[in-house]
Amino acid sequence: QLHARKPFISGNWKLNPQTKDEALALAKGIASSITENSPDVDVALFVPYVFIESTMSSVDGKLSVGACQVCPQLKGAYTGAISTSMLKSIGVEWALAGHSERREIYGETDDYINAQCLKIIDEGMSVMLCIGESLAEFEQDLAGSVCAVQLKKGLKGINREDLDRVAIAYEPVWAIGTGKVATPEIAQNVHAKCRAIIADMYDQEAADAIRILYGGSVTPESVDDLMSMPDIDGALVGGASLDASKFGRIINFK
Ligand code: PGA
Repeated sequence: QLHARKPFISGNWKLNPQTKDEALALAKGIASSITENSPDVDVALFVPYVFIESTMSSVDGKLSVGACQVCPQLKGAYTGAISTSMLKSIGVEWALAGHSERREIYGETDDYINAQCLKIIDEGMSVMLCIGESLAEFEQDLAGSVCAVQLKKGLKGINREDLDRVAIAYEPVWAIGTGKVATPEIAQNVHAKCRAIIADMYDQEAADAIRILYGGSVTPESVDDLMSMPDIDGALVGGASLDASKFGRIINFK
């Protein structure tokens, strides 16, 4: 299987695991599944802030450890917030922005998500912008148009030369944590539309280079067929990233 772009498998731990010991055991298990026989793949784990540094030091540099969200302000009176400069200072390279749980539970808007993306890029870090339609939108055949709006608003003001530090994660909300993975055809269709939007916003070369990951109930059973699609460049994995053997199998997709 030849891939047009370097595959990118990432895990999103969300509000799991609950202890440092569990986090480190899981991270070590995941790192040990990356061997010389693994595909040539980038691997990242998005983990709770408190576990970032210890997770980083437990994985032998085999994967990168990112933040699940950032504060778009740099400093000042924002109690409880974590800035990109703090993350940068401990060596964090990647951060998620726009995960549907942040949009829904924490009310993050496209403008706020755009500010996060710009701050992450300004800091010299890389951002994985998450987009995706709700079930109602999917049923009304609005996946493409919803993603177009989220992409255009999320990436507003990001320069062409910084796009190599941007990845997109298409995560249909109806597939997240539900066990209802999108079929490879459904995902491929939206990924191709997203790539066309990037071509429209920037140019074809930029569109051909950007990595678009699929997320939503990805498992060892579904990953291979998803990864065989021409516009699916990787996976953002929630539930199955909490099990080292399952996530290890996803990293070692065929
Ligand atoms: P899931 O989560 O794999 O558990 O569906 C994906 C995500 O929320 O990124």
